[in-house]
Amino acid sequence: MAKTSRVPEPALECVAARKRYGDRTALADATFSCPAGAVTALIGPNGAGKSTFFRSAAGLITLDAGRILVNGHEAGSPPAQRGTSLMPEQPDLYPGVSVWEHIVFVALLYKLERWRPAAGQLLDRFGLADRRDTLSHELSQGMRRRLALVMAMLRGAEMLLLDEPFNGLDPRNSAELRALVRELALDGAGVLVATHILGDVVRLADRVVILVSGRVIAQGTLAELREQAGLPAEADLERTYLALTDTHALTRLEDAS
Ligand code: ADP
Repeated sequence: MAKTSRVPEPALECVAARKRYGDRTALADATFSCPAGAVTALIGPNGAGKSTFFRSAAGLITLDAGRILVNGHEAGSPPAQRGTSLMPEQPDLYPGVSVWEHIVFVALLYKLERWRPAAGQLLDRFGLADRRDTLSHELSQGMRRRLALVMAMLRGAEMLLLDEPFNGLDPRNSAELRALVRELALDGAGVLVATHILGDVVRLADRVVILVSGRVIAQGTLAELREQAGLPAEADLERTYLALTDTHALTRLEDAS
């Protein structure tokens, strides 16, 4: 993990986002940003509001208050929709439809021009070149996620939202997907990854956002989070996460706000 904060343009900004479902609060004035060209990890307990945030950023649901901007465009607006790609834990692929047909579908849907060479290169880069004719339901889970990333890259998504991308992958597939995600960030994309696997966060992310009960309780590099938790330099992410999400720490935060 990087030791200092980077200060590139934010690819995504979430400002005081609020969302309730009936009397249940999913997002409570959540504020954070994801820089372009970097991987940000979104971590927090189940029910923290991560999926609600992803769905709002992808324009699938609307916030009650606050705003989410993707490259300066309001989430849900056509330019934001075009620039954002949400990859759910189970990517939305069509069963009985081949890898190449998925690519053609994206090209037609987004009215892409001269897309074939780029598609060929992406399939090659993502290890799917010899799978063009394979039907999506015959792909392994790792391949399904790689195809979903190829589709996002082909249409030029600048902000990738990856929900638990490493769940169910074997160590090799997981390592390969991590390397690809890093490459996409190096190419300039903003990447936000929700995961429960803290080891993946350490290996992959430049920054971490911790969401608890719909509120961002901490964000920054591991070094910055450690400092916020008042822990020594040798404290790892698990210890830092546990300290920051400790009931007493949260109560102190509540008292101070
Ligand atoms: P996470 O992805 O971090 O597990 P969610 O965004 O799924 O969190 O959920 C945040 C809160 O909102 C939880 O209390 C959850 O029960 C509630 N919630 C999420 N979706 C709905 C829904 N469609 N209807 C009612 N409550 C919901």
